[in-house]
Amino acid sequence: MKLTSLAIGCLALALCGLAAPAQENSPPMKQNTYRIALAVHGGAGTIERSKMTPEREREYRAGIENALRAGREILDPGGSSLDAVEAAVRVLEDDPHFNAGKGSVFTSAGTNEMDAGIMDGKTLSAGAVASVEHVRNPIVLARAVMEKSKHVMMVGSGAEEFGKRNGIELVDAKYFFTQHRWEELQKKKAEQAGAGGRKKFIISDADCHGTVGAVARDSQGNLAAATSTGGTANKLPGRVGDSPVIGAGIYANNATGAVSCTGDGEFFIRAAVAHQISALMELRAMSLSEAAEHALADAQKLGGTGGLIAVDKNGNVALPFNTSGMYRGYLGEDGKFVIEIYK
Ligand code: ASP
Repeated sequence: MKLTSLAIGCLALALCGLAAPAQENSPPMKQNTYRIALAVHGGAGTIERSKMTPEREREYRAGIENALRAGREILDPGGSSLDAVEAAVRVLEDDPHFNAGKGSVFTSAGTNEMDAGIMDGKTLSAGAVASVEHVRNPIVLARAVMEKSKHVMMVGSGAEEFGKRNGIELVDAKYFFTQHRWEELQKKKAEQAGAGGRKKFIISDADCHGTVGAVARDSQGNLAAATSTGGTANKLPGRVGDSPVIGAGIYANNATGAVSCTGDGEFFIRAAVAHQISALMELRAMSLSEAAEHALADAQKLGGTGGLIAVDKNGNVALPFNTSGMYRGYLGEDGKFVIEIYK
């Protein structure tokens, strides 16, 4: 009799063990509570210490910190990773230092055309918008596409019309004007003219960085990713890069990880960088950082440089890049923010 109750006790303990999140490296603090993880980026490119003033560096760092804070405010009390990445990206879209929302680069026609995407790793739901010109926060519209339409990607005036019907804030195109981006366009145009008008690939030039993104794991263990951009300076009107393309500049899957990329969009699309990372983890059992390095190298083999931020299902974070810098930050295991710019 005694033996039987002991056996039942053992069985119950074993079942409890099975019910606990078995894939965790670090055991959850209490049932169903995972360590939160958060990382953000503000673009990768030729970012050189010698060309940066201390004041500008402080401003960029403050932007990254504000985004991290916005994400953590949601994650700390148990909010969702989806809300956290949206909030973090929104902060960066409102910050004119970064190439997304206010501060977006100009097209060759002198317009601002923005792209954004968001993905929920729990359900594999995704929403994206491209070539929008009047949406104050393209990431908010991307989320509305995900949650309020049966579509995944919407573009241009149709996307904006959908936004208007769903209470998304639209602004005059003038809102997106910034002097530094305007001057950068003039510089690009002069450069192009100097090259005999020959069409030159101007992506990944010093001033083109600034795309923003966030990845997170919440206390339920759910992953999410968000990316938002003005694209590349002097791009042709209508050009869309990797940022809103699910599987290219953004991907999230609770089974593997969540990824947000920045860099030469054309090559990130062709190397399917964000999804490739997830596939390498799932099918080749690579770690997050191995998979991220591998996918980034694939884009580089095609001719594209850049970087990415990623978080895996265990809360590990990777922030690799193959440019001279990437504005980036993450929540350290000690609960403090780590913010870095250069290699
Ligand atoms: N990936 C973005 C694009 O190609 C640009 C960037 O991240 O700098 O639109």
